[in-house]
Amino acid sequence: MAYNKPLPAPTPETQEYWDGLKRHELRIQRCRDCSRHYFYPRPFCPHCYSRNVEWTTVSGKGKLHTFVINYRPARGFESDVPYVIAIVELDEGARMMTNLINVQPDPQHVTADMPVEIVYDDVTPEVTLPKFQPARR
Ligand SMILES: [Zn+2]
Repeated sequence: MAYNKPLPAPTPETQEYWDGLKRHELRIQRCRDCSRHYFYPRPFCPHCYSRNVEWTTVSGKGKLHTFVINYRPARGFESDVPYVIAIVELDEGARMMTNLINVQPDPQHVTADMPVEIVYDDVTPEVTLPKFQPARR
C-alpha cells in the first residue's frame, strides 16, 4: 500500500541520522567538550555552543517526557486518530518529538515518565521513521 503521509527531506546535517534509522540504528550527536547528547542534528552543541561534536549510536531507550493524545489529524493522518504525539527523553538525555505506538491512546495507558523504547518503522523502501512503544523490560 502506498505511503501517503509527509516524508522527511534529509539535509547534509541530518543525512547521518536518516541513514542510521534505515539501518535500524539511532544516531544522534554528542558534544566532545561538555559530553552532552543533543537532538535535532546541528553542527554545534546547543548547551555550550562548541563545534567539537560527534555522532554516536544510542540505545533507543528512554522515558515519556510529555505527550498529547491527538484527535484532530494532520492531512494524511485521518485514519490514525486518536494517536499519541510524544516527547521522549532518551536515557542519554536528548529529547525527540515522535509518536508513541503499540499502546491504547488513553491516559489510563499512557503516563508521563513511563519507560519507552524505539521502534523502527520502515514506511517506504528509502525511509525509516523512529517511533516509540512502552518498554518491554
Ligand atoms: Zn557542549
